[in-house]
Amino acid sequence: MYFSLPQQYREATSDELKDHIKVAKEKLGKKLIVLTHHYQRREIVEFGDYVGDSYGLSKIASQQKGVEIIVFCGVHFMAESADILTDDNKTVFLPNPLAGCPMADMADMADVMEAWKYLEEFGGDEVFMPISYMNTTAGLKAFTGRHGGLICTSSNADAAYRYAFGKREKIFFFPDEHLGYNTGIKFGLKPNEMVLWDFSREKGGLTPEQVERAKVILWKGHCHVHTNFTAEHVKEVREKYPGVKVVVHPECPHEVVEAADANGSTRFIVDFCEKAPTGSIIAIGTEINLISRMAYQYPDKTIIELSGKTCPVCANMYRTTLNDLAYTLESYADIKPIKVLEPTKSEALLALKKMLEIS
Ligand code: SF4
Repeated sequence: MYFSLPQQYREATSDELKDHIKVAKEKLGKKLIVLTHHYQRREIVEFGDYVGDSYGLSKIASQQKGVEIIVFCGVHFMAESADILTDDNKTVFLPNPLAGCPMADMADMADVMEAWKYLEEFGGDEVFMPISYMNTTAGLKAFTGRHGGLICTSSNADAAYRYAFGKREKIFFFPDEHLGYNTGIKFGLKPNEMVLWDFSREKGGLTPEQVERAKVILWKGHCHVHTNFTAEHVKEVREKYPGVKVVVHPECPHEVVEAADANGSTRFIVDFCEKAPTGSIIAIGTEINLISRMAYQYPDKTIIELSGKTCPVCANMYRTTLNDLAYTLESYADIKPIKVLEPTKSEALLALKKMLEIS
């Protein structure tokens, strides 16, 4: 996809863009809300009416009354989820249409259908409940809804496991193998009760015995931002900063989660920083924009990035700039909104509503 802003937005200075955004927001008043994900640049978050993780923001989107325009500063699947959760009087815009999620792209619709076809030989939806991580396309959310499954985020994956195992014997979890695995371990499953479906191999590379034995089938997908961290980083940061507290996101590999002091969703990490006493040293294993904002917000604490070596940036979250936001707010009437069509919208809504109910 090619995307280029009109020249005046490309060439404007930051101060000019900020003025444009302020004026446009005032003009649109209560008709508009700007939702900003925690991983956005700080200057974007400053213009958000709400900042949150994908769960928090989707909940906010679902509760809006009287709002007509939702500008979602995040990535594509989040804007789609906001559209699914809101009525047809609301229009959702993604300021940078190139902002996707590589993890969501790892679960391709055709590949998931092929896996499901194979799992049908083992009982299909009599036996397996699909749980789709929020980071999926609307089409996969609809697949999940059609088969009685639900969506989860890192805030409520354990509640989703509880719900699923209360109704069916096994879980088919996609697309993040690490969140699925870490949640399974937290839930009390043994490592050999979870198997990995490798979509590049025939029948996922699994034998019928492995599928029969498994309680969870995990999709082979990951977030490159969170798999950046290693257990060695945790060891090194502890040596360098005695007394440091290490908190990581559950999209990190299990050995990192195990070596950390705490793990949890983006919201959990924000709360962890907020509640830590003055003088604390906190090393965080997640996206760099959130870490930098926490360090800026809590100057009385030492907040650092866990690896100390690499820059765990989500390039897709980073795509949204003041230029994009100014253009979207001033020209939304000429921009193609994010629209999920029927029947995908209603089917995906079933799965999303179930998530909101159990959380
Ligand atoms: S941080 Fe990872 S999971 Fe989140 S949007 Fe970026 S690539 Fe996707």
